[in-house]
Amino acid sequence: MESDFNINKLVRPNVASLKPYSSARDEYQSTGNSMIFLDANENPFPTNVNRYPDPQQRYLKLELGALKGIFHEHILLGNGSDEVLDLIFRAFCEPGKSNVITLPPTYGMYGVLANINDIENREILLSEEFEPQVEKILQAVDEQSKIIFLCSPNNPTGNSFSEEKVREILQRFKGLVVIDEAYIDFSEKESWLKKLNEYPNLVITQTLSKAYGLAGIRLGICYASKEIIAILNKIKPPYNINELTQESALDRLNSSEIVSTEISDILAQRERLFKVLHEVSFVKNVFKSDANFILIQVDDANKRYDQILEKGIVIRNRSTQPLCSNTLRITVGTDKENSELIKVFKDISK
Ligand SMILES: *Cc1c(COP(=O)(O)O)cnc(C)c1O
Repeated sequence: MESDFNINKLVRPNVASLKPYSSARDEYQSTGNSMIFLDANENPFPTNVNRYPDPQQRYLKLELGALKGIFHEHILLGNGSDEVLDLIFRAFCEPGKSNVITLPPTYGMYGVLANINDIENREILLSEEFEPQVEKILQAVDEQSKIIFLCSPNNPTGNSFSEEKVREILQRFKGLVVIDEAYIDFSEKESWLKKLNEYPNLVITQTLSKAYGLAGIRLGICYASKEIIAILNKIKPPYNINELTQESALDRLNSSEIVSTEISDILAQRERLFKVLHEVSFVKNVFKSDANFILIQVDDANKRYDQILEKGIVIRNRSTQPLCSNTLRITVGTDKENSELIKVFKDISK
Protein backbone atom coordinates (compact mmCIF):
# COMPACT_ATOMS: atom_id res chain seq x y z
CA MET A 1 0.00 0.00 0.00
CA GLU A 2 2.49 2.56 1.17
CA SER A 3 4.84 1.95 -1.72
CA ASP A 4 1.99 2.98 -4.08
CA PHE A 5 2.23 6.48 -2.72
CA ASN A 6 4.07 8.88 -4.97
CA ILE A 7 4.25 12.51 -3.92
CA ASN A 8 5.42 13.59 -7.36
CA LYS A 9 2.17 12.36 -8.89
CA LEU A 10 0.17 14.31 -6.35
CA VAL A 11 1.80 17.75 -6.50
CA ARG A 12 0.54 20.26 -9.06
CA PRO A 13 2.86 20.36 -12.10
CA ASN A 14 3.30 24.15 -11.90
CA VAL A 15 4.34 23.83 -8.25
CA ALA A 16 6.70 20.96 -9.05
CA SER A 17 8.52 23.10 -11.62
CA LEU A 18 8.28 26.35 -9.66
CA LYS A 19 11.37 28.30 -8.77
CA PRO A 20 10.58 29.87 -5.39
CA TYR A 21 11.19 33.52 -4.50
CA SER A 22 14.55 33.91 -2.86
CA SER A 23 14.55 36.55 -0.13
CA ALA A 24 17.56 38.49 1.16
CA ARG A 25 17.49 36.39 4.31
CA ASP A 26 17.36 33.18 2.28
CA GLU A 27 20.49 34.23 0.43
CA TYR A 28 22.42 35.24 3.51
CA GLN A 29 21.36 33.71 6.81
CA SER A 30 22.06 35.87 9.81
CA THR A 31 24.53 34.31 12.21
CA GLY A 32 23.81 37.01 14.75
CA ASN A 33 27.25 38.58 15.06
CA SER A 34 28.86 41.70 13.72
CA MET A 35 27.75 41.59 10.09
CA ILE A 36 26.63 44.81 8.45
CA PHE A 37 23.31 44.21 6.75
CA LEU A 38 22.84 46.33 3.65
CA ASP A 39 20.98 43.72 1.60
CA ALA A 40 17.28 43.97 2.41
CA ASN A 41 16.50 47.70 2.20
CA GLU A 42 15.58 47.81 5.88
CA ASN A 43 15.75 50.97 7.96
CA PRO A 44 19.05 50.64 9.88
CA PHE A 45 17.84 52.50 12.98
CA PRO A 46 16.76 49.97 15.59
CA THR A 47 13.20 49.43 16.68
CA ASN A 48 12.86 45.87 17.93
CA VAL A 49 11.46 44.90 14.55
CA ASN A 50 13.35 46.92 11.92
CA ARG A 51 14.83 43.70 10.48
CA TYR A 52 12.93 41.08 8.49
CA PRO A 53 12.15 37.93 10.48
CA ASP A 54 13.86 34.58 9.87
CA PRO A 55 11.97 33.13 6.87
CA GLN A 56 12.65 29.58 8.09
CA GLN A 57 11.94 30.26 11.81
CA ARG A 58 14.90 28.14 12.82
CA TYR A 59 14.86 28.75 16.59
CA LEU A 60 11.15 28.18 16.80
CA LYS A 61 11.31 24.95 14.81
CA LEU A 62 14.20 23.68 16.92
CA GLU A 63 12.21 24.35 20.09
CA LEU A 64 9.02 22.80 18.72
CA GLY A 65 10.97 19.88 17.33
CA ALA A 66 12.58 19.23 20.72
CA LEU A 67 9.21 19.40 22.44
CA LYS A 68 7.50 17.05 20.00
CA GLY A 69 10.45 14.82 19.15
CA ILE A 70 10.36 15.80 15.48
CA PHE A 71 13.21 16.88 13.21
CA HIS A 72 12.85 20.47 11.94
CA GLU A 73 12.73 19.31 8.32
CA HIS A 74 9.35 17.75 9.08
CA ILE A 75 7.88 21.09 10.21
CA LEU A 76 6.30 23.99 8.35
CA LEU A 77 4.83 26.99 10.17
CA GLY A 78 1.94 29.10 8.97
CA ASN A 79 0.08 32.28 9.84
CA GLY A 80 -2.46 30.18 11.76
CA SER A 81 -3.37 26.65 10.68
CA ASP A 82 -5.69 28.30 8.22
CA GLU A 83 -2.67 29.41 6.18
CA VAL A 84 -1.19 25.92 6.44
CA LEU A 85 -4.43 24.40 5.12
CA ASP A 86 -4.53 26.92 2.27
CA LEU A 87 -0.94 26.09 1.30
CA ILE A 88 -1.83 22.39 1.20
CA PHE A 89 -4.74 23.13 -1.15
CA ARG A 90 -2.64 25.30 -3.43
CA ALA A 91 0.28 22.87 -3.60
CA PHE A 92 -1.73 19.77 -4.44
CA CYS A 93 -5.15 20.67 -5.87
CA GLU A 94 -5.70 21.72 -9.47
CA PRO A 95 -8.50 24.36 -9.63
CA GLY A 96 -11.54 23.14 -11.55
CA LYS A 97 -10.19 19.61 -11.68
CA SER A 98 -9.18 18.06 -8.35
CA ASN A 99 -11.49 17.17 -5.49
CA VAL A 100 -11.12 16.78 -1.73
CA ILE A 101 -13.17 14.85 0.80
CA THR A 102 -14.44 16.35 4.03
CA LEU A 103 -16.59 14.78 6.74
CA PRO A 104 -19.33 17.07 8.07
CA PRO A 105 -20.19 18.09 10.67
CA THR A 106 -16.68 19.48 10.90
CA TYR A 107 -14.51 22.59 10.81
CA GLY A 108 -15.88 24.96 8.16
CA MET A 109 -12.55 26.16 6.78
CA TYR A 110 -11.89 23.02 4.69
CA GLY A 111 -15.03 23.68 2.64
CA VAL A 112 -14.37 27.42 2.40
CA LEU A 113 -10.81 26.85 1.21
CA ALA A 114 -12.08 24.32 -1.33
CA ASN A 115 -14.48 26.97 -2.66
CA ILE A 116 -11.83 29.71 -2.75
CA ASN A 117 -9.50 27.43 -4.67
CA ASP A 118 -12.27 26.15 -6.98
CA ILE A 119 -11.87 22.57 -5.79
CA GLU A 120 -14.85 20.21 -5.58
CA ASN A 121 -15.64 19.32 -1.95
CA ARG A 122 -17.10 15.81 -1.64
CA GLU A 123 -18.89 15.72 1.67
CA ILE A 124 -19.36 12.32 3.29
CA LEU A 125 -21.26 12.71 6.54
CA LEU A 126 -19.94 11.21 9.75
CA SER A 127 -22.00 8.33 11.16
CA GLU A 128 -24.57 8.89 13.93
CA GLU A 129 -21.70 8.21 16.35
CA PHE A 130 -19.70 10.97 14.64
CA GLU A 131 -17.21 8.46 13.18
CA PRO A 132 -15.84 8.41 9.61
CA GLN A 133 -17.78 6.04 7.32
CA VAL A 134 -14.72 4.47 5.78
CA GLU A 135 -16.36 2.49 2.96
CA LYS A 136 -18.46 5.44 1.81
CA ILE A 137 -15.41 7.70 1.90
CA LEU A 138 -13.35 5.32 -0.21
CA GLN A 139 -16.25 4.87 -2.65
CA ALA A 140 -16.29 8.64 -3.19
CA VAL A 141 -12.60 8.65 -4.11
CA ASP A 142 -11.55 8.83 -7.77
CA GLU A 143 -8.40 9.68 -9.74
CA GLN A 144 -8.83 13.39 -8.99
CA SER A 145 -9.17 13.01 -5.20
CA LYS A 146 -6.15 14.66 -3.63
CA ILE A 147 -6.90 15.10 0.06
CA ILE A 148 -9.10 13.68 2.81
CA PHE A 149 -9.51 15.99 5.81
CA LEU A 150 -9.97 14.35 9.22
CA CYS A 151 -10.46 16.60 12.22
CA SER A 152 -9.69 14.66 15.39
CA PRO A 153 -10.74 15.67 18.02
CA ASN A 154 -13.49 16.95 15.75
CA ASN A 155 -14.93 20.45 15.87
CA PRO A 156 -17.88 20.85 16.67
CA THR A 157 -18.64 17.33 17.97
CA GLY A 158 -15.64 17.07 20.32
CA ASN A 159 -14.90 13.37 19.82
CA SER A 160 -11.71 11.77 18.52
CA PHE A 161 -12.05 9.35 15.64
CA SER A 162 -11.44 5.64 16.12
CA GLU A 163 -7.81 4.78 15.55
CA GLU A 164 -8.67 1.78 13.35
CA LYS A 165 -10.81 3.90 11.02
CA VAL A 166 -8.11 6.55 10.62
CA ARG A 167 -5.51 3.85 10.03
CA GLU A 168 -7.67 2.25 7.35
CA ILE A 169 -8.07 5.56 5.52
CA LEU A 170 -4.32 6.20 5.72
CA GLN A 171 -3.58 2.77 4.30
CA ARG A 172 -6.19 2.60 1.56
CA PHE A 173 -6.22 6.19 0.21
CA LYS A 174 -3.44 7.11 -2.23
CA GLY A 175 -3.71 10.85 -1.69
CA LEU A 176 -2.91 12.99 1.34
CA VAL A 177 -4.68 12.44 4.65
CA VAL A 178 -4.66 15.66 6.67
CA ILE A 179 -5.38 15.10 10.36
CA ASP A 180 -6.27 18.41 12.02
CA GLU A 181 -5.18 18.12 15.64
CA ALA A 182 -6.09 21.63 16.79
CA TYR A 183 -7.49 20.15 20.03
CA ILE A 184 -5.04 17.29 20.60
CA ASP A 185 -3.63 18.82 23.81
CA PHE A 186 -7.01 18.37 25.49
CA SER A 187 -7.27 14.71 24.52
CA GLU A 188 -6.05 11.56 26.25
CA LYS A 189 -5.60 9.98 22.84
CA GLU A 190 -2.15 10.06 21.31
CA SER A 191 -1.27 12.40 18.50
CA TRP A 192 -0.63 10.82 15.10
CA LEU A 193 2.80 12.50 15.08
CA LYS A 194 4.60 9.30 16.01
CA LYS A 195 3.17 7.65 12.88
CA LEU A 196 4.69 10.15 10.43
CA ASN A 197 7.40 7.72 9.35
CA GLU A 198 4.89 4.92 8.89
CA TYR A 199 2.60 6.82 6.47
CA PRO A 200 4.15 8.94 3.70
CA ASN A 201 0.70 10.43 2.94
CA LEU A 202 0.09 11.65 6.51
CA VAL A 203 -0.05 15.39 7.17
CA ILE A 204 -0.77 16.65 10.69
CA THR A 205 -1.77 20.18 11.57
CA GLN A 206 -1.67 21.69 15.04
CA THR A 207 -1.93 25.23 16.34
CA LEU A 208 -0.92 27.49 19.21
CA SER A 209 -4.41 29.05 19.11
CA LYS A 210 -6.15 26.71 21.54
CA ALA A 211 -4.30 24.95 24.40
CA TYR A 212 -1.28 27.24 24.08
CA GLY A 213 -3.38 30.34 24.54
CA LEU A 214 -1.95 32.30 21.61
CA ALA A 215 -4.83 32.69 19.15
CA GLY A 216 -3.85 36.34 18.70
CA ILE A 217 -0.35 35.72 17.35
CA ARG A 218 -1.51 33.35 14.55
CA LEU A 219 0.79 30.34 14.58
CA GLY A 220 -0.20 27.11 12.90
CA ILE A 221 2.01 24.06 12.51
CA CYS A 222 2.22 21.40 9.84
CA TYR A 223 4.09 18.13 10.33
CA ALA A 224 4.69 15.83 7.37
CA SER A 225 7.39 14.01 5.41
CA LYS A 226 10.43 16.05 4.35
CA GLU A 227 9.22 15.82 0.76
CA ILE A 228 5.80 17.30 1.53
CA ILE A 229 7.30 20.02 3.73
CA ALA A 230 9.77 20.94 0.98
CA ILE A 231 6.89 21.39 -1.48
CA LEU A 232 4.91 23.60 0.92
CA ASN A 233 8.06 25.61 1.64
CA LYS A 234 8.36 26.47 -2.04
CA ILE A 235 5.01 28.24 -2.12
CA LYS A 236 4.75 29.84 1.32
CA PRO A 237 5.05 33.64 1.51
CA PRO A 238 8.72 34.33 2.34
CA TYR A 239 8.22 36.07 5.69
CA ASN A 240 4.88 34.54 6.71
CA ILE A 241 5.67 34.31 10.44
CA ASN A 242 6.41 37.76 11.80
CA GLU A 243 9.10 38.49 14.39
CA LEU A 244 6.72 39.24 17.26
CA THR A 245 4.90 35.97 16.66
CA GLN A 246 8.15 34.02 16.64
CA GLU A 247 9.21 35.63 19.91
CA SER A 248 5.88 35.13 21.69
CA ALA A 249 5.70 31.52 20.54
CA LEU A 250 9.24 30.79 21.78
CA ASP A 251 8.44 32.34 25.17
CA ARG A 252 5.31 30.28 25.51
CA LEU A 253 6.95 27.02 24.43
CA ASN A 254 9.51 27.67 27.15
CA SER A 255 6.71 27.96 29.73
CA SER A 256 5.36 24.47 29.20
CA GLU A 257 4.60 24.04 32.92
CA ILE A 258 2.18 26.97 32.88
CA VAL A 259 0.55 25.59 29.75
CA SER A 260 0.15 22.15 31.38
CA THR A 261 -1.41 23.69 34.46
CA GLU A 262 -3.89 25.63 32.36
CA ILE A 263 -4.78 22.53 30.38
CA SER A 264 -5.38 20.49 33.57
CA ASP A 265 -7.57 23.28 34.85
CA ILE A 266 -9.61 23.38 31.64
CA LEU A 267 -9.99 19.57 31.72
CA ALA A 268 -11.27 19.68 35.31
CA GLN A 269 -13.72 22.41 34.31
CA ARG A 270 -14.84 20.38 31.29
CA GLU A 271 -15.64 17.46 33.62
CA ARG A 272 -17.55 19.80 35.93
CA LEU A 273 -19.61 21.26 33.06
CA PHE A 274 -20.23 17.79 31.62
CA LYS A 275 -21.81 16.64 34.90
CA VAL A 276 -23.83 19.77 35.58
CA LEU A 277 -25.17 20.16 32.03
CA HIS A 278 -26.59 16.62 32.20
CA GLU A 279 -28.86 17.74 35.01
CA VAL A 280 -30.40 20.70 33.21
CA SER A 281 -33.99 19.93 32.16
CA PHE A 282 -33.85 21.46 28.65
CA VAL A 283 -30.55 19.72 27.83
CA LYS A 284 -31.33 16.48 25.98
CA ASN A 285 -27.81 15.27 25.30
CA VAL A 286 -24.27 16.16 26.33
CA PHE A 287 -21.67 14.77 23.94
CA LYS A 288 -18.40 13.38 25.28
CA SER A 289 -15.54 15.73 24.48
CA ASP A 290 -11.81 15.33 23.95
CA ALA A 291 -11.52 19.08 23.30
CA ASN A 292 -11.92 22.35 25.23
CA PHE A 293 -15.58 22.66 24.33
CA ILE A 294 -18.75 20.65 24.81
CA LEU A 295 -21.52 20.12 22.29
CA ILE A 296 -24.98 19.81 23.79
CA GLN A 297 -28.36 19.06 22.29
CA VAL A 298 -31.26 21.07 23.69
CA ASP A 299 -35.04 21.34 23.26
CA ASP A 300 -34.90 24.52 21.14
CA ALA A 301 -31.44 25.78 20.23
CA ASN A 302 -32.48 29.17 18.83
CA LYS A 303 -34.55 29.99 21.90
CA ARG A 304 -31.87 28.85 24.37
CA TYR A 305 -29.11 30.63 22.43
CA ASP A 306 -31.03 33.92 22.63
CA GLN A 307 -31.81 33.50 26.32
CA ILE A 308 -28.17 32.78 27.14
CA LEU A 309 -26.98 35.70 25.00
CA GLU A 310 -29.39 38.01 26.77
CA LYS A 311 -27.68 37.07 30.04
CA GLY A 312 -24.34 38.17 28.57
CA ILE A 313 -22.85 34.82 27.56
CA VAL A 314 -21.91 34.12 23.95
CA ILE A 315 -21.86 30.50 22.86
CA ARG A 316 -22.12 28.98 19.38
CA ASN A 317 -25.31 27.69 17.78
CA ARG A 318 -24.29 24.74 15.58
CA SER A 319 -27.82 23.68 14.61
CA THR A 320 -27.42 24.29 10.88
CA GLN A 321 -24.69 21.65 10.67
CA PRO A 322 -25.75 18.16 9.55
CA LEU A 323 -26.40 15.69 12.43
CA CYS A 324 -26.40 18.70 14.78
CA SER A 325 -30.04 19.78 15.01
CA ASN A 326 -30.67 21.83 18.13
CA THR A 327 -27.08 21.83 19.25
CA LEU A 328 -25.04 24.46 21.03
CA ARG A 329 -21.26 24.45 21.38
CA ILE A 330 -19.85 25.78 24.62
CA THR A 331 -16.18 26.61 25.10
CA VAL A 332 -14.86 25.69 28.56
CA GLY A 333 -14.01 28.92 30.38
CA THR A 334 -12.50 29.78 33.75
CA ASP A 335 -14.02 28.54 37.00
CA LYS A 336 -15.78 31.88 37.41
CA GLU A 337 -17.08 32.02 33.84
CA ASN A 338 -18.37 28.47 34.07
CA SER A 339 -20.12 29.23 37.37
CA GLU A 340 -21.89 32.10 35.59
CA LEU A 341 -22.82 29.80 32.73
CA ILE A 342 -24.23 27.19 35.10
CA LYS A 343 -26.22 29.84 36.92
CA VAL A 344 -27.71 31.09 33.64
CA PHE A 345 -28.60 27.53 32.59
CA LYS A 346 -30.37 26.92 35.92
CA ASP A 347 -32.18 30.26 35.76
CA ILE A 348 -33.57 29.79 32.27
CA SER A 349 -34.59 26.18 32.93
CA LYS A 350 -37.04 27.28 35.64
C1 LIG B 1 -9.58 26.56 15.99
C2 LIG B 1 -9.26 25.56 14.96
C3 LIG B 1 -8.11 25.67 14.20
C4 LIG B 1 -7.15 26.77 14.48
O1 LIG B 1 -6.90 27.58 13.43
P1 LIG B 1 -5.77 28.70 13.58
O2 LIG B 1 -5.81 29.31 12.24
O3 LIG B 1 -4.47 28.00 13.89
O4 LIG B 1 -6.17 29.62 14.68
C5 LIG B 1 -7.81 24.69 13.27
N1 LIG B 1 -8.62 23.64 13.10
C6 LIG B 1 -9.74 23.49 13.84
C7 LIG B 1 -10.58 22.29 13.66
C8 LIG B 1 -10.10 24.46 14.77
O5 LIG B 1 -11.23 24.32 15.48
